[in-house]
Amino acid sequence: MVAALVNWLQEQDESMIVLKKPHELEAMRASGNLAGRVRDRVASSVVPGMTTAEIADFAGDLIEAEGATCAFYGYHGFPGKICISVNDEVVHGIPGPRVIAVGDVVSLDFGVLLDGFFGDTATTVLVGVTDPEVIRMVRVTQRSLEAGLEQARVNGKLSNISHAVQGVVEGAGFSVVRDFVGHGIGRSLHEDPQVPNYGRAGRGPALKSGMTLAVEPMVNFGVAGTRVLEDGWTVVTRDGKPSAHFEHTIAICEGEVEILTAG
Ligand code: MG
Repeated sequence: MVAALVNWLQEQDESMIVLKKPHELEAMRASGNLAGRVRDRVASSVVPGMTTAEIADFAGDLIEAEGATCAFYGYHGFPGKICISVNDEVVHGIPGPRVIAVGDVVSLDFGVLLDGFFGDTATTVLVGVTDPEVIRMVRVTQRSLEAGLEQARVNGKLSNISHAVQGVVEGAGFSVVRDFVGHGIGRSLHEDPQVPNYGRAGRGPALKSGMTLAVEPMVNFGVAGTRVLEDGWTVVTRDGKPSAHFEHTIAICEGEVEILTAG
């Protein structure tokens, strides 16, 4: 689940960023691992004819079977166990009676709460999609996340991640969503800092060992602009063209970044 952009243009207050202690990182490994495994199992189960409610119930069963809870359910009143966003839906789609059809682009966003810590991860599934440009958009979104994570290094600046994501996406001819951003994560689903998917490099807080972030590019096929439907949640593209979303929860540590939701 993404955060609404509030303060990228201001300096982010580094003192608000919670650095996790080793035992807290251990708990985040467990919640992240669960989120990643649920993501992979659910993503591989999506077939035409399923309703989005059925997909969400499957995810919820997997999460609850391990003693965790669905982190999004009830979060600011969100009514679903996970977010499922189809085609022109960018993020925060509410599971329901919608039937998945051949040709759908299905973004699945999972949040788990296990032993007091959150894990957050997303992927986009192509359900019999044949349009090569749409397939390319989804691959580019995944690659932009990987490029961002390569910049997630101790002493690097936060916006190095943002800038790398943007470079991959715009270099491939697609648009980065700016209205919503990634976020710190830990004992709260959304912590400081905000993690935008665009911006100049070398800005924002310096990354420190023990920071845990949810990095989550949202990429639109057409224009970057979005709007929120009357349900108060579902974010859609302004031009009705499709969108993709990938997300990992990561820990900044000495050496290579640790992907907590690798699965
Ligand atoms: Mg998130």
